Amino acid sequence: MLKKTLALVSLFLVGTLLFSFQEKPKVLRTIIIDAGHGGKDVGARGAFSYEKDICLGVATRLGEQLARTAPDVKLLFTRTDDSYPELHTRARMANQNKGELFISIHVNAAPPVQHKEFTGNKTVVSYVGKGKKRKKVTRQVPQYRYYSTPNPAKGTETYIWGAHKNEDKEVAMRENAPMLAEENYQQNYGDVDVNSADFIALSLLKTKQFFKRSATLAGLVEEEFAKVGRVSRGQRQRQVGIWVLQATAMPSVLVETGYITNRAEEDYLNSENGQEEIANCITNAVKNYMGWLEKNQISAQQGLTTGVQKQKATETFLNQIEAAEQRRQQAR
Ligand SMILES: [Zn+2]
Repeated sequence: MLKKTLALVSLFLVGTLLFSFQEKPKVLRTIIIDAGHGGKDVGARGAFSYEKDICLGVATRLGEQLARTAPDVKLLFTRTDDSYPELHTRARMANQNKGELFISIHVNAAPPVQHKEFTGNKTVVSYVGKGKKRKKVTRQVPQYRYYSTPNPAKGTETYIWGAHKNEDKEVAMRENAPMLAEENYQQNYGDVDVNSADFIALSLLKTKQFFKRSATLAGLVEEEFAKVGRVSRGQRQRQVGIWVLQATAMPSVLVETGYITNRAEEDYLNSENGQEEIANCITNAVKNYMGWLEKNQISAQQGLTTGVQKQKATETFLNQIEAAEQRRQQAR
């Protein structure tokens, strides 16, 4: 009996020890690095270079620097050569590999500035009337010279997917997809009424966590750019042209690393020093972001989705939820 008790006690002790020595969960395990454009899609054009090549250069250097700074984090690339994976392919790859952060590298462009300059009047002669009544008429017509100059816009911008107020609910549902799609959903969440105000409020809360992580990283990226003397145009939100951010079910940012249409920045963006500096800024920001996650005890998996199958099932499910919601509102 004593032997048995001792054995049990020691088993318990060993278990406790093992448990306490267990590594604390990593805040970030997989980062997806996305070089924008590629192949047939050259992106924006500068005086001598294409956006797609700068994106690949910066993304590659970012990968090298992150591997040194955060050796425990798995890095995956949407492309490593001059190919063009479709946006949905990139998003699917990120989701299937359980990415926990998506960083898309791009280059900005601004249209040339149009000018209209008055160059003087021109005398235009015309005749009116016929026969004896024919008269000579002269008039002055102002002349203009039209020309364009390169847009002086320069600096960096980091975008996150922006949700308009009235779209909050939809975004919340989309981002809650993983929870709702779990196979043992019923078992885990019982018969929660997904149409209830409480549930929707909870969904919004989750969305905000997701949004908060993206916004935090975006802010940190811009902070680093400002530190090295770049013109930081700030952390911004938009929906046009950044579909890929919306499709990745993880915190995600899109970094516009500079203006290819500004000659000085085009030189910088194509230089080794420039690309290393940009990669270094983003690397520092990711490091600070990981520190922030740790400090706030946000686990890597929080709110993340896995797999397309689940997403599909989720979409169907969410459609049903929305339809029910609409019927409920109409009935009021
Ligand atoms: Zn782009």
